[in-house]
Amino acid sequence: MFRRRHRHNCGYWDCDKRIPEDDFLCAEHYQSWAEGVIDRCPKCGRFKDIMYRLCLDCYFGRKVAQWQPPGGIPPQKQNYRVEYSDAWVDGYMRSDKFFIFILEFDDGGLYVGHTADLTSQLSGYKKQKESANAGRNPRLQYVQMVATKEAAELREAELKKLLGSNPEQVHLMIADFRGRMHELGYEEYA
Ligand SMILES: [Zn+2]
Ligand SMILES: [Zn+2]
Repeated sequence: MFRRRHRHNCGYWDCDKRIPEDDFLCAEHYQSWAEGVIDRCPKCGRFKDIMYRLCLDCYFGRKVAQWQPPGGIPPQKQNYRVEYSDAWVDGYMRSDKFFIFILEFDDGGLYVGHTADLTSQLSGYKKQKESANAGRNPRLQYVQMVATKEAAELREAELKKLLGSNPEQVHLMIADFRGRMHELGYEEYA
């Protein structure tokens, strides 16, 4: 009978790639580890981006099992290794990096999305010819900035839910946003 080798997940906190039992990272994350851009989360033991003090699960207080590398971790063969710095927290975590946006189409339909690059995302919608949104003339109706992708995803899910259960609320939110833009003198933000 054909015997399969036991496989387990990559040790990077949100990677679900299956890897051979004596490996501790998938090929991609092994590369990041060799380059010194990921190290271990002091709380759960899994690997994380060095720019964060904790993996995002631990950062958001989610319960995760302690992770142990299956066969120990070899020393990193390099002279230079980047270390976590508090400055990154200010520069990265607290910077307004992600945008939640609402588009309105000619037929009155609303679309909620999030992106790290609002400009290219919006110009992408304008250029789409083949998609379901082609020719529907999307106009930007609402923008909100948040500091993390996590927060952007939560807010997007919240707004999508609200759009289904209480669309009137979303329209009020848009009207309020328009009002504020008007006060600031931004008439043509769409
Ligand atoms: Zn991985
Ligand atoms: Zn962790």
